Amino acid sequence: MFGTSLFIGVESAFVNDLEFTVPSYIDALVPESALADEGLEVVNPATLALLATVVDYSEQDVEEIVVKADRARVAWSALTAKERARHLLAWRDLLIEHQELLAKLMTAECGKPMAESMGEVLYGASFIEWFAEEGKRVYGDIIPSHVQGKQALVLKQPIGTTAAITPWNFPLAMITRKAAPALAAGCSMVVKPAEATPLTALALESFAHQAGIPRDLFRVVTTTRPAQVGSLLCSSPIIRKLSFTGSTAVGRTLMRQSSDTVKKLSLELGGNAPFIVFDDADIESAIEGALVSKYRNAGQTCVCVNRFLVQDGIASEFVSRLAARVSALSVGNGSEEGVAIGPLINASALEKVERLVEDAVSKGAHIETGGHRVAVDEGSFYAPTVITGVTPDMSLFREEIFGPVAAVVTFTHEADAIALANDTEYGLAAYFYTQNLGRSWRVAQQLEYGMVGINEGIISTEVAPFGGIKQSGLGREGSKYGIDEYVEMKYVLVGGLQL
Ligand code: ADP
Repeated sequence: MFGTSLFIGVESAFVNDLEFTVPSYIDALVPESALADEGLEVVNPATLALLATVVDYSEQDVEEIVVKADRARVAWSALTAKERARHLLAWRDLLIEHQELLAKLMTAECGKPMAESMGEVLYGASFIEWFAEEGKRVYGDIIPSHVQGKQALVLKQPIGTTAAITPWNFPLAMITRKAAPALAAGCSMVVKPAEATPLTALALESFAHQAGIPRDLFRVVTTTRPAQVGSLLCSSPIIRKLSFTGSTAVGRTLMRQSSDTVKKLSLELGGNAPFIVFDDADIESAIEGALVSKYRNAGQTCVCVNRFLVQDGIASEFVSRLAARVSALSVGNGSEEGVAIGPLINASALEKVERLVEDAVSKGAHIETGGHRVAVDEGSFYAPTVITGVTPDMSLFREEIFGPVAAVVTFTHEADAIALANDTEYGLAAYFYTQNLGRSWRVAQQLEYGMVGINEGIISTEVAPFGGIKQSGLGREGSKYGIDEYVEMKYVLVGGLQL
C-alpha cells in the first residue's frame, strides 16, 4: 500500500524503483525541441535540483503562435464532433498508458506525493473523455414560431481561438479541464502553464499532437515573463476567450486587461473553504473527510479546507482525534513510499504559512500539533499542523493558507456557523458534517459557495460543475455546463416561409 491511504490515488500502481536523480521520464515525455540551454529553469521543490531548462517564449513568439492557432481552428471546427472526439479519446488513452511516467514527472516538478500524482493523471484524463462525448451534445434550439412564415433557431458555435493560464498545483488536470471542452467544441487553445510546472504541460501537449490534434491548434507556451505574456493574451483581439485558474489577485488583473477586447472569461480563483462539524456529525467520517480535504497536496489546493468550524459540544474530541491522526502523517519527498505531505512549492509559500501561524499565535491561538518547518533535503517543508482558538481577526481566518495548517474555530449555534462560514469575500467550496436531514438542507441553501460537500471532504469530479461565486470566480468547469464556456449562441430567424 502506498502511504497512509489518506489520499485519492491509485495506490496499487505504486512502483518501488522510482529514480529521481536521473530524470529519464523527462526524456521520455518532453520533446527535445521544448528544451533549451538557457530559458525557464524547472526545479524539484523537494530537493531544489534542476530538472530541466525549457524554451522561454517571447511575446512576439506567442503572438505568432496565436495567429497560427487561429488559422488551425478553421479546419478543426469543420470536423464533426465525432471526428474531434476520436482524437481526444486517443489523447486520453496516451495519458493513461503513460500514467506512471507522467506521475513521476508531476511529483518531481510540483512535489505532491506519488499516489496523488497517479490520481491526477486519471482525473485529468477524465475531463478529456467527458468532453469528447459532450462535444456531440452541443444542441441548439428550434423556437416555436411567434409569427406565421418565420422560424427562429438557436445555433451553438465554437467561440474561436482561446487561451488558458494555469497553476502549478494541478499541473495536468487544470489544463485538460480547459483544453478538452475547448477542443471538443471546435476551438483552438494556447496554454501558458505556471513557471514551476511547464514540463507536465509540455508532455501533455506532446501526447495531444501524437493523438492527431493538429500542432498549431493546441500549443503550450513556456515563459519566464508570465505578466507580459498574460497581458498579450488578454489584449489580443484574436483570442475570444480566456480561462484562468490561480489567485484572485491575478484574476482581477486579467479581468481588467481583458476589458478592452470585451473577452469572455472563466476565472477559477482563490477560496477560503469552511468545514463545519456539527455536534450531530458522525465524528469518524468527519475526521476522514477533514484529513483528505485539508492535507491533500500539502494543503495547496483552492478547495482545501481553510477554516474548521466546530460546534463546542464536540470540539475537544474532534481536535484531539484530528491532531493524533495529523501528527502521524509523514513529511518528505513525494517520490518516497509512505510520504503523505510533500514540500510546499517554494520558499515564499513556506514564509507565508509561517507568517499566518505566527500572527495567529501572537493573537492567542494554540498549536495542538506541528507549527514548525521540517528539515528534509533543501525543500520548503512544513509540519502538518492543527491550531485551535482561531478567531476572525487572525489572518489565518481571512487568507488562503495554501499549506498543511488546520485552523479550528468553535461555535455554539447553527446560525453562528453559517455567519462565520460566509464571512469572507471568497465563495468556492464549503463542507459540513451532520446527520440531521433538515439541517443538511438548511445549511446547504444558506452557504454562499459554488460547491458544497455534505458529509464529504472531496467533491471534485468531471461530471459536476466546478466553480465559485463572489470573488472566487466566474464560470464553471467540467459537467454538462463546462462546454458552454467555449460556445457562442447565435439566433437565426428564417423568414419568407410559405407555410
Ligand atoms: P499562485 O500564487 O498559486 O502561483 P498565481 O495566480 O500567481 O497563483 O499563478 C497562476 C498562474 O498565473 C501561473 O500560470 C502564473 O504564471 C500566472 N500569472 C502570475 N502573474 C500573472 C500576471 N500578472 N499575468 C498573467 N498571468 C500571471
